[in-house]
Amino acid sequence: MKIQAAILEGVGQPFILDELDLAEPGPGELLVRMAASGVCHSDWHLVTGATKHPFPLVPGHEGAGIVMDVGPEVKRLQPGDHVVMNWAPDCGYCFYCQHGQTNLCETFTRPIWGGTMLDGTTRLQYRGKPTYHFCGLASFAEYAVVSERSCTPIRRDVPLPIAALVGCAVSTGVGAVIYTAGVRPGETVVVLGCGGVGLNIIQGAVLSGAAAIIALDNNPHKEALARQFGATHFIPSGANSRGDVLELTSGRGADYVFEAVGLPALQELGLRLTRPGGTLVLVGLSHVKEPTNLSGAFIARQGKIIKGSYYGSINTHRDFPLLLDLYMAGKLNLDSLVSQQYTLSQINEAYQAMLTGDVARGVVVF
Ligand SMILES: [Zn+2]
Ligand SMILES: [Zn+2]
Repeated sequence: MKIQAAILEGVGQPFILDELDLAEPGPGELLVRMAASGVCHSDWHLVTGATKHPFPLVPGHEGAGIVMDVGPEVKRLQPGDHVVMNWAPDCGYCFYCQHGQTNLCETFTRPIWGGTMLDGTTRLQYRGKPTYHFCGLASFAEYAVVSERSCTPIRRDVPLPIAALVGCAVSTGVGAVIYTAGVRPGETVVVLGCGGVGLNIIQGAVLSGAAAIIALDNNPHKEALARQFGATHFIPSGANSRGDVLELTSGRGADYVFEAVGLPALQELGLRLTRPGGTLVLVGLSHVKEPTNLSGAFIARQGKIIKGSYYGSINTHRDFPLLLDLYMAGKLNLDSLVSQQYTLSQINEAYQAMLTGDVARGVVVF
């Protein structure tokens, strides 16, 4: 079938909007009519080259939609189901899945980072040439063919533009707090960076009962947003950030520090803001070639713990419905997270707005 989608032809190029051919779903695959797709920084990493990927490709990896058709061997889903997509389609059987770490499943990494479906081929063609699917989803498109493993059915009373955000930012942020870190009531949390992920770390800390939630961002306009999501303090990042945080944490530093941007300098600051025996959680993705200078002696002497958090250590099929139940119960603020809606033709504008930083999360609505 013919579909309209955003296409990226190479590093440094703008997103272009054009018509592509989308093949029918293969075994274990679904055709989904996209309802919404979030504007996440990870797609921008394709534009800057921070993430290596074959071109041309259709970006988009934070999507929700409605199943229109199913391929052979599809077992769990049927046409009409509302689904949220995940970019880590776990198998359920490998070493990691058997150890409760489905976010690290070893079966999806190669095809997903190769830009194909799980069987190593593509369903998209642009001007007669095979075209790659970002994260096996390619959700900046009217329709997408995706693996059944990439989709979780959800309750139908959640608006799909809200549900889409659970596919990346909400899971990554809230999961980092409740699963990767395991923050407990009364503990102190510092959040470095108040973008889509950082705001969800803040609300994850609220859910966990953190006593103090100190948010830092280099954009002072983020203060109102950070406080709206539950930050108890806001510090504009600058030369004095470390002193300001120490003052708020009895001179010790925080029990948990979350780095949500992926900048080596912020990761290094994060270690210094972590109290002895406390935990620094790295959530933001830095450029693959950018090293971070974290002092080994400092880590050993002060018993500090450094943890990586990928996809919030969640199990997508268990946690997407859980997070949406929390939203419907009024315990997760996803309404204020969708600060701006765009049409697909406004996608370049949407990314410019994300980069200038005044939005919580933009969403392309189809
Ligand atoms: Zn994302
Ligand atoms: Zn697996």
